[in-house]
Amino acid sequence: MKIYLFNTLSGKKELLVKPKGRPLRLFVCGPTVYDDPHIGNGRTYVFFDTLVKYLRSTGLKVFYLQNITDIDDKIIARAHAEKVSFSKIAETYLAVYFRDMKALGVTAVTKYARATKYIPQIQKQIEVLLKKGYAYEIAKDGIYYDVSKFRDYGKLSRRTTVQAESGVSRIDESIHKKNKADFALWKFGHTKAPMQIINGEPAWPSPWGLGRPGWHIEDTAITEYFFGPQYDIHGGAVDLKFPHHEAEIAQQEAASGKKPLVKIWMHGGFLTLEDQKMSKSLGNFMTIDQFLKNTSPEVFRLMTLSHHYRSPLNYTVKLNKEMKLKWLAILEFLAKAEVGAKSSLVKKSRVSNLAKFEKEFTLALADDFNTPAALGILFKFIGELQPKLWQLSRVEAKQILKKIRKTLKTLGFSFKFPQIPLKIKGLARERENLRKNQQFVQSDSLRKKANDLGFLIEDSPLGPFVWPKS
Ligand code: AMP
Repeated sequence: MKIYLFNTLSGKKELLVKPKGRPLRLFVCGPTVYDDPHIGNGRTYVFFDTLVKYLRSTGLKVFYLQNITDIDDKIIARAHAEKVSFSKIAETYLAVYFRDMKALGVTAVTKYARATKYIPQIQKQIEVLLKKGYAYEIAKDGIYYDVSKFRDYGKLSRRTTVQAESGVSRIDESIHKKNKADFALWKFGHTKAPMQIINGEPAWPSPWGLGRPGWHIEDTAITEYFFGPQYDIHGGAVDLKFPHHEAEIAQQEAASGKKPLVKIWMHGGFLTLEDQKMSKSLGNFMTIDQFLKNTSPEVFRLMTLSHHYRSPLNYTVKLNKEMKLKWLAILEFLAKAEVGAKSSLVKKSRVSNLAKFEKEFTLALADDFNTPAALGILFKFIGELQPKLWQLSRVEAKQILKKIRKTLKTLGFSFKFPQIPLKIKGLARERENLRKNQQFVQSDSLRKKANDLGFLIEDSPLGPFVWPKS
């Protein structure tokens, strides 16, 4: 099966060339660990987790590398605000990140690499850039990358160096920079307050004195260490395209003289909350932990994959409800198929066309990982089978169950079926006895009682099937 992925660099869908004799190398920018991860971060990481699980399911070996930004201005600022060390902040939020990823079922990452563990590699790359004339020093400030020296600067985000100057995201400020878009590779250690409060800002010895790395350099130092100067796929959300990913290209391609740094650049769309950018100060912010207090990780995954990864995803309470019901419908289908697989009375059946379903589903995923189309095909398949479920033989029910479970597992779903309380099960049994004795008024009243308690009792040829309404 040929897989096509959209490459931001070329602006086109491209064939994914499967490497021979080595795993596919994929890098995704990890979090800056200074705060609780929010559902926007969750969207991005669940998406890449699913992509890797899918690629592996096709037989590809994938080395999925993710960095952890555990040294950054934001971490230091929070440490100052809370009067604790930067490492305390980094450790606290790294633990929260791992906890939340585990809770979301994000398990595909091969290696998490913490920036502070790769300081020698970072320094080595800066030295090369200095030697080759791509970097310069500003006294008492740091080592900066000179974007005017790199002819290809802007090729990913399609900006010229001049336009690049309007970039705002985490741009390092210094009035002594040669170009406004120049960014810090290395920041010299500060000696003034507020560092005194926290026992000193983190600073590593380097050929240029004590200091710490800039934000962009950690990624290329880490990828060069694990993958070499060129690799297969780089991912992140769209906010990182500029300046972060542009800076990565400028650093690594200048340092190695080899291009392209990455064959395919993948950028995921942003998640907004009730039509607004997520912002703590505006009060519209939802952490992954808050989300999971009321909703399951499967619903989060379904919501993520029901949107094309390159499109925006607007989270609303209504969307949450819709996704909960959709997930419940999948589970209901599986639960009924399981009943059929165990005790159907039908001898032979050929109700479904599994081969057609599989073909369409696979094609949708191979076309730029079009998960909303693939899920649409799954829902159509389930929807058409739903009224005929009790006509399935045990063999066919088993085949369907196996296929749907495998399909969903490929996308990283696991299955937790709703518990039917003993009281409701008892009601259903009692009602069934009444029904058998033709006491329909009484049996109807028990069915209504179950309904009022939030459960539907459906009569099937194999007995009553009880299921929650929501
Ligand atoms: P950060 O910790 O801010 O570096 O973000 C971690 C990852 O989440 C990066 O890949 C970001 O691009 C991504 N990200 C941040 N905010 C959002 C959002 N609202 N929607 C989707 N992805 C996001």
